[in-house]
Order: sequence, then structure tokens, then C-alpha cells
Amino acid sequence: MLLVHASSLASLRRELLSTIGREQTRRLLLRAGFASGRRDAELARKVRPNAPFFEAFAVGPQLHMLEGSVQVTPQRFEYEPDANHYLGIYRWDHSWEAESHLRDFGPQEEPVCWMLLGYASGYTTEFFGRPVYYKEMACQGCGGQHCLIEGRLAQQWPDAQSIAQDYDSESMLLRLDKLQSEVEVLRTQLQPEDDLGPLIGRSPSFSRAIELLRKAAPTQVTVMLTGETGVGKERFARALHALSPRKDNTFIAVNCGALPAELVESELFGVEKGAFTGAQAARPGRFERAQGGTLFLDELGELPLAAQAKLLRVLQSGEIERLGGTQALKVDVRVVAATNVDLDAAVTSGRFRRDLLFRLNVYPIRIPALSERVDDIEPLAIHLLERFSALHGKQIPGFSDQALEAMRHHDWPGNIREMENLIERGVILGTSGQRIELENLFPALPSGMRITVSPAGSLERSPGSGAPEMLDLMKRHGMTLNDLEDALMSEAVQRHRGNVSAAARELGLTRPQLSYRLEKMPRTD
Ligand SMILES: [Zn+2]
Repeated sequence: MLLVHASSLASLRRELLSTIGREQTRRLLLRAGFASGRRDAELARKVRPNAPFFEAFAVGPQLHMLEGSVQVTPQRFEYEPDANHYLGIYRWDHSWEAESHLRDFGPQEEPVCWMLLGYASGYTTEFFGRPVYYKEMACQGCGGQHCLIEGRLAQQWPDAQSIAQDYDSESMLLRLDKLQSEVEVLRTQLQPEDDLGPLIGRSPSFSRAIELLRKAAPTQVTVMLTGETGVGKERFARALHALSPRKDNTFIAVNCGALPAELVESELFGVEKGAFTGAQAARPGRFERAQGGTLFLDELGELPLAAQAKLLRVLQSGEIERLGGTQALKVDVRVVAATNVDLDAAVTSGRFRRDLLFRLNVYPIRIPALSERVDDIEPLAIHLLERFSALHGKQIPGFSDQALEAMRHHDWPGNIREMENLIERGVILGTSGQRIELENLFPALPSGMRITVSPAGSLERSPGSGAPEMLDLMKRHGMTLNDLEDALMSEAVQRHRGNVSAAARELGLTRPQLSYRLEKMPRTD
């Protein structure tokens, strides 16, 4: 028999409580105690094979005392196997669990002698050869003088089922499985700041962008990220920061388009107390908060002209001045800017300062759209599937061939963000154990409809057919469907200067079909 010192058990217990939480620790210790109780019961029968029942039974409590776990005083022992009756009441003094719990956490609401309780249940169950559970009716850990436990046959407890669950290894495994999934999600969410992990892709255009990023990272150069909405500009900016010598300092992202114009300057550069009505306290801006780190300015094209002028001054002097302030503060911040609009055009139209663009556009990196890197679609989709399966607690083995094929041919106007939305929805609609089907990704879209992503990143269906416009047109002109058909046929024939075969092709009809319909048309002349 292995004697484990109570103090090392106490530190194990503490560690468990802080890592897996109270409920899981309780169950784990109950089960550990139960297993050790069963082994001791086997031992007890060997030690006193011919002793009277209770005397042999008492070996367990004695072993416990020997181990220094607890001092046991039997108060009641009634066991009538044939009548299915057992009542065992024991008083516990100096429970190591209660004492260590009290020492570490103070008095508790609920009893805390989990391992000892599990031991009692395991010992009696094995000794009697039938399931017996104990409950702790009073506990020193709750501020009592001593602990008091009461044991009965499982069938005598009205809540036997829920007690049994505590001892069920299956539920423990399920719980662990769930925890593991949760850890997986957290890890995925953290990754963008750690390394290039989630910047998945090997297509040439994407690899070029990554290569430029790696070269810029160790330098101080101001980087300008361009690319369509949803290509992952912030992720690139975070990766740049993580690969740079500034990685241990702050990364701050500002979406210039999301800030109200009147707040942009105070957000970026900070405010002195009393600078304007409502400025009751001095507040540092994002530049100050990014001191020593990286400031990511997304949607730079949305920055109002006044703020552009200030930003230019900061970039030139390395100093900021809070709103209403008189003192210049030195800042050491690397600026990474991003835009999805053509800033050259904005300069031409007078919405963006040319000198600021020159200053920021030293090292442009263009992030390719998803439709330009078709080979990356599958690995990306699989990565996202793993992430969202973990997030939604589903086990989804992959995509059907049809679903993959559809993704390869989709034109992804919303890029990675659209793909994230699509796959997350696919996971939600999907069933554990089954692959994601086409209709989980693109559910019941009428033909001609396509999915687009709004600037805010949400999925929207838009008609490729122009049907709503056409219907409105019909209503406006008081036309029927027949009138519309007739008008379309006349138009096609006119366009092809009376060539019925060509007109039929354009309308998706055969020549005889069109001729027949033209003949049936009411004559207006
Ligand atoms: Zn107790």
C-alpha cells in the first residue's frame, strides 16, 4: 500500500481546483476515493477472513485512520441484506480534506470531503458486493465541529441516479472532451497574435504577400495593406506585429470608418481635461496606448481631413498633442495602415491628402482576394471547419465533394469573412458525424440568386436575375407576364434585325418555338 502524505494530496487538490474547477475536482476525487476504497475492501476481507462481519468491515475505517486521513467513529451500523436495508452513520474528526480546504479557501457552503466520501462508498460497495452510497450530512469544512456521513444502499436513496452520475467515468470523459474542444477554440482565437498560423495559403499571390510581410516585420517601415473587404487585413497586421521586435508590446487596432467623425481625433490623440464640454478627465489616445507597439489604422480612407493633417504631423515629428493640450508627447509607435478603397482616386477627388498617402504608402502589401487563390480555398475551409466545429461542440468530419466544388466555384465577394460566415452557418445546420453538404452552405437558393456580404460582413442574398426590378417595371407599366414575354421576343427579333434564329438563341428557344410564339402574338399594327 502506498501512503501518500496528506500535504501532497492537499496541494494536488488545490491544483485541481484551480485548473479544472470545483465540480470536476469533486467528481474526480470522489472517483479516486471510490477506487481506493474498493481496493481496501478486498484487502480487508483477506486480512480478517474469519472475523465477524462488522469487525472485518471495520478494517476500512481503521486503514483510513492509519493513513492519517480522518478519525472515524461509528455511530450506527444496521445491515440487513435480505431486507435490503443498510444504515451506516459515522462521525469524522480531523478530515484532511476539510482541514486543507478550510486552510486554503475558508468555510464552505457545501461539504468538501469528496475523496473520503468516495472512499467510504467504494469500500462499502465492494465489501457488501452491492452499490452503497454515502452522503456527508455535516462537514467541518462548512464550519461544523466535525463531519457526519450517512450511508445507504443505492436503492434506498431517492436521488440514487444523480449520485451514480457522480461516479460515472463516462460523463467525466464527455466533459473532458468538451473541455478539450473549448481549449482548441481558445487556441485558434489566440493564434493570430502568436504566429502566421492562421494565414493559411500557398498560392503564389498569397505567398508573395507573406514574403513581403516577413521582410517588413523586423524593420520600422510603415506598412500599407490593401485588398478587398474581408481579405484579412487585420490578421496580417497582427502577424506583422507578432513577427516584429515590438511583439511584447501592445497591438491596437482602430477602425477609422467605425469612429464617429467628431470623436476620431480624441480617440487617436487623447484629450486633456476640460478640452471640450464633457471632457471631465484627461484620457490617453490610441497612439499613447500603443506606445512601443503597433497601431493598426483600418479603413484609413474614412479618416476626416482634419484628422489626416494631425496624423501626418505625428508621423513626421513622432510627437502627439492631446486635444486641448499644450505639451507635445514623444511616441514610439509603428503605424500599419489599411484600406479597401483606391486612395489614389480619393486623392484626386480631394478626399485624401496626397502628402499623407506618400508618407504611408512606403511599403504597400496587396493581399489577394480569395477568388484569386482558388487553391487555398480547400485548406482554408478545412481550417475554419475545425474551428467552428470546436466552437459549436460538433464533430464534423469534412465537406461533401459537392460542397467543396461549390466553394471552389463561388466568387467570394466577401472573401475570408464571407467564408467564415458560410462555414459557421454550415456547421450550425450540419449534424455531428456527417459531412457538410452543399445545401448546408448555400441553403435552397433559387437559381440566379447569389450570396454577397455587406460591408459589415453579414451575408445577404442578392438577385442576379434582376427579378425584383423587372417585377416593379411590370407593375409600373400595368403589364402582364404575357405582355412581358411578347415585349422580350419583339426586342430580340428587332436587335437581330429580323433574324429569328439568332433571336431564338438569345432567348434560349429553338427557332420553331419562337416562330410559333411570334405567330400567336397579337398584332398591334
Ligand atoms: Zn467533511
